[in-house]
Amino acid sequence: MRTRFPPSPTGLLHVGGLRTALFNYLLAKQSNDAFILRVEDTDQERSVDGAMEDILQTLERTHISPDEGVVLQNGKIAQVGNKGPYIQSERLDIYRKHAMQLIEAGHAYYAFDTPEEIERMREEEQKAGNPSPKYDIGRRMRMKNALTLSADEVQTKLDASEPYVIRLKIPENTVIKGEDAIRGKVEFQSHTVDDAVLLKADGFPTYHLANVVDDHLMAIDLVLRGEEWLPSLPKHLLLYDAFGWERPQFAHVPLLLNKTGGKLSKRQGDVGASEFLNKGYLPEALINFLALLGWNPGGTEEIFSLDDLVQNFTLERVQKGGAVFDEEKLDWLQGQWMRRFSADEFATRIKPLVAEKYPTANDDENFESKATLIQERITFFHEAPEMLSYYYSEPVLDMEIVANKKQKVTEEMVPHILSLLIEYFEDLDDEFDWNPENLKDDLFQIAKDHDLKNGQLLWPLRAILTGLPYSPGAFEVAAALGKEKTLKRLKAAQSHQ
Ligand code: GLU
Repeated sequence: MRTRFPPSPTGLLHVGGLRTALFNYLLAKQSNDAFILRVEDTDQERSVDGAMEDILQTLERTHISPDEGVVLQNGKIAQVGNKGPYIQSERLDIYRKHAMQLIEAGHAYYAFDTPEEIERMREEEQKAGNPSPKYDIGRRMRMKNALTLSADEVQTKLDASEPYVIRLKIPENTVIKGEDAIRGKVEFQSHTVDDAVLLKADGFPTYHLANVVDDHLMAIDLVLRGEEWLPSLPKHLLLYDAFGWERPQFAHVPLLLNKTGGKLSKRQGDVGASEFLNKGYLPEALINFLALLGWNPGGTEEIFSLDDLVQNFTLERVQKGGAVFDEEKLDWLQGQWMRRFSADEFATRIKPLVAEKYPTANDDENFESKATLIQERITFFHEAPEMLSYYYSEPVLDMEIVANKKQKVTEEMVPHILSLLIEYFEDLDDEFDWNPENLKDDLFQIAKDHDLKNGQLLWPLRAILTGLPYSPGAFEVAAALGKEKTLKRLKAAQSHQ
């Protein structure tokens, strides 16, 4: 199944766009076929510099790069494949030829109305009680087009190089029928469909013409796109029929909604897929999250790698209703993916970040075991230097952290607790096997002997050793720091009192 993703280069790749690209990618891979990227830049005024780079780089970062069409080759935009060019502004002759073909066959017509005349027609219609007039009213209104003018009049205008557009002639009083892989049968009354412009006065095609011509010439089997394109479907169906081409399969995927049920838009926060990656979300987590927006895997499993998705994704399990973009779910998936790294891989990924801030981390033979202690609670790689700071720099003593209501530790208790801890660590002989388990047994016993809750002894220990409100537990931290540093920090805290 050849599938396509045809973005218009108007800005950052939207997360909804990335989901559309993903679904297309998955269906192409399932059949070992090509996933094609075409650039739809026919609306030149809306094109934005750098948008294509962002779109292609984001696809590359999430491992769903196109196989054919516009691709990145060593970081540079290139075109590959034998059905090109794949950039619509390089295909203007092809669209003109096809528009003429439709005129000849009576499915399209020239229209010479100026924008002002169209506006006047609109106003008159609205005054007459038609709130959203369509251009085909122009057939009645005697607008200046090939349906209302004589063949000679049309020829004269063409000979005089008067500006014109070419419009699709929507048949009257018919029902336009089609199939959608997600919605089943779909029907549109022809009187609700406008005689859309196919070729503009500047010679550029509109989306409708270019999209249909290209999907056909590029041998696309499935047109999968966002639900916002469903109203365009009747025009596209008529175009396929008018050209005498076999229709591809269509699938319109549900909109992404914000938590209050509205359309997901920039005003509520980031919607650019690259913005999420730049914040530190793993490509795996973002892809996993987007796949679940609108697709129901059927079972209880929620963690899907790209390979799993290729194995499991089906259009039958894509819902019709909108899909809520729930960032808490994204964060949860991010955490799940962070835990999935092997200890070795995780340590390798964070080491350069930590060493950039604390160069001594580079020579730390026990780096991996320290890294493992934070893997359980980290959300983003960039949090690692802060989470490991106390191994490589002296923490700042913060009594607000050391005293803790929940653990029932008051500031007044701290000197007593400190002396107990210091006494214990000082008395340990060289034979003592310094590991979390042994420390735990001893410290629990000390708490018991002095009528303290475990937390009343361990919380201040942990807080003094790390200087942080959250960290791995006291035994793990003390074990990783070693006896000397542990004692030094406790004594520093004591002399600070
Ligand atoms: N160029 C359109 C867009 O920007 C493509 C819609 C389609 O897939 O047909 O979304």
